[in-house]
Amino acid sequence: MTDESVLAKGLVERIGLEGSLLTHRPENKEKQVIYTDIPNHSVAIKLVLDALTDANYGVISSMKEIDAVGHRTVHGGSTFTKSTLINDKVIEEMEKLVAIAPLHNPPGILGIKACEQIMPGVPQVAVFDTAFHQTMPEASYIYGLPYELYEKYGIRRYGFHGTSHRYVSQRVAEIIGKPIEELKIITCHLGNGSSIAAIDGGKVMDTTMGFTPLEGLIMGTRSGNVDPAIIKFIMQNEHLTIDQVDELLNKKSGFLGISGVSSDLRNVEEAAAQGNPRAKLAIEMFNQRIVRFIGAFAAQMNGVDVIVFTAGIGENAIETREAVCAKLTFLGVDFDREANQVRGQEREITKPGSKVKIFVIPTNEELMIARDTAQLVK
Ligand code: AMP
Repeated sequence: MTDESVLAKGLVERIGLEGSLLTHRPENKEKQVIYTDIPNHSVAIKLVLDALTDANYGVISSMKEIDAVGHRTVHGGSTFTKSTLINDKVIEEMEKLVAIAPLHNPPGILGIKACEQIMPGVPQVAVFDTAFHQTMPEASYIYGLPYELYEKYGIRRYGFHGTSHRYVSQRVAEIIGKPIEELKIITCHLGNGSSIAAIDGGKVMDTTMGFTPLEGLIMGTRSGNVDPAIIKFIMQNEHLTIDQVDELLNKKSGFLGISGVSSDLRNVEEAAAQGNPRAKLAIEMFNQRIVRFIGAFAAQMNGVDVIVFTAGIGENAIETREAVCAKLTFLGVDFDREANQVRGQEREITKPGSKVKIFVIPTNEELMIARDTAQLVK
């Protein structure tokens, strides 16, 4: 963190499954792919540490060089409004949140416990995907349901991708050279999972994901917003259980379900280019929902100064950005088609003098996690 340079990146996959592997990418050294039995998270973390300290392809001389560990944690509920130094009490609170994040929080907790076990005494920090959205006003986060359900179970909008929305909103303010407190920003995190956030003066006012990451935009395999009454109808007519409908909404919908081709936008774009009408429809629907939320959020903030595109689609999909921006001239967007021919780089894609500026900014959640961790353990 002395100069924020990356020493290595890596990924452990298929923990507890056949064919488990570690990919280790050290800066300036050759990538290592290690196929080995990884039955649990402790073995996984041990393998990562071995790779980082390896005599040949490692990047640090020993584990003693590790001053702290930052963890991306999906759900902080209403309890965690910012990144937090982890202790037993924090883990206890995170365990309570498993009820509302059954898929994401248990593996997160396993990872933290594995690090504590292997690196006793090294401070651990949790960076929550929901924390940045905790500034939302009640009117944005309460659903039109009986209020008691919020009180009893914490059913409310939480929002996700917070670390990404925070990074790109701060970064765009830095690029423009204005204090974030003076800006109205709409950040579009468009990837396999997608969400948009309205950020006024550095504070989230609203976001498209909700109680879970299912709400909002059309995604790779998630439906996004649907009329909730459809669920009962499908259950009755397709004879599905509630778990099967849940799977249908989360895993079989979105790009995949509409196009019948793929959850990956690149494949859907290819099919659309070959004339597949459902692939074309999926793209049209995706773009239309983005425009819908940008319009809604601009109205909600009574204006917008900057719009940011980030994540796999936002950073790379030139056509998506062009289609969306074509519908934003009413806001005062003077789109620059030439500048938009960019993938994975920071760039303004509006012309000088455009009333509303639009930027592509590659997200960097890892840097955000590292910064929060460094700051908390100092
Ligand atoms: P992420 O979840 O942020 O990794 O984003 C994954 C999504 O980004 C997938 O739908 C990809 O198809 C999409 N994506 C990545 N590169 C491109 C590209 N060059 N053009 C269009 N979509 C892309």
